[in-house]
Amino acid sequence: MSTLIEAAVGDAAALLSRARSAVAFTGAGISQESGIPVYRGEGGLWTKFDPYKVAHIDTFRADPSQYWSYSREHRRTDARPNPAHEALAALERHGKLSGVITQNTDGLHQKAGSRRVIELHGSSHAVVCLDCETRFPRVDIDALNREHCPPNCPACGGRFLKPTVVMFGEALPGEALLEAQALAIAADVLLIVGSSLQVYPAAGIPRLARENRADLCIINAEPTPFDSFAAVLLQGKAGELLPAIVRAMGEG
Ligand code: NAD
Ligand code: ZN
Repeated sequence: MSTLIEAAVGDAAALLSRARSAVAFTGAGISQESGIPVYRGEGGLWTKFDPYKVAHIDTFRADPSQYWSYSREHRRTDARPNPAHEALAALERHGKLSGVITQNTDGLHQKAGSRRVIELHGSSHAVVCLDCETRFPRVDIDALNREHCPPNCPACGGRFLKPTVVMFGEALPGEALLEAQALAIAADVLLIVGSSLQVYPAAGIPRLARENRADLCIINAEPTPFDSFAAVLLQGKAGELLPAIVRAMGEG
């Protein structure tokens, strides 16, 4: 680790140690080292697919079988939390983090042991029927999907079973957004990890925190539009930098 990065790790550790209410805001980059591809940036899925086609609610409603056949071939269920997820869980355990606001749908924060996790974009581990609104665990629907693709709703027989992930053209879950906004307003430090900060309304959260005088600490592999507002900026891998910060705080 270069001396410049070491100094910034020390600054981030000092910022978090002093904080009364630190909150993390995470994006796809925190799960990249768990083998889940990001959307934007180097190697991102959107460099290969058109997001408005594959992940739009209108496309899904027109033909859910496209989604479920893609899921049957490509869905990975073996991803494990990496040291970045674990570092955030350790900070919360030691009373140094009030919660995690995430744009991710992979459930890896919870798997790592984080307790207060606000999922702004829903979860890929739950499925909802768009006709009768019954919710099901994803594993059960994945099993049905292997027998018959696309799967039908076990409750009403409907054709529109959708993972609770927020697709393009859909609103964010209102309760999660309100809780995230309240946390962002109350935060004195917002620790941003692995997000391009280009997706709204989610990227409104760091803006809200900054407007309410939180210090921003940004850990990302590439520059973001918020870099000039950051108190501490760390460019690099979350799985290396976050554990280094936790060690520098003496919380490792
Ligand atoms: P993004 O794909 O737009 O950006 C990810 C950022 O992470 C990039 O700027 C990249 O430089 C950075 N990055 C990549 N690897 C990194 C690493 N090892 N350490 C630190 N930074 C790294 O992601 P986003 O801002 O979260 O927004 C995209 C949307 O895609 C979100 O809505 C999210 O719901 C969804 N998404 C979720 C998952 C998931 O659940 N794991 C995966 C892909 C996309
Ligand atoms: Zn139903």
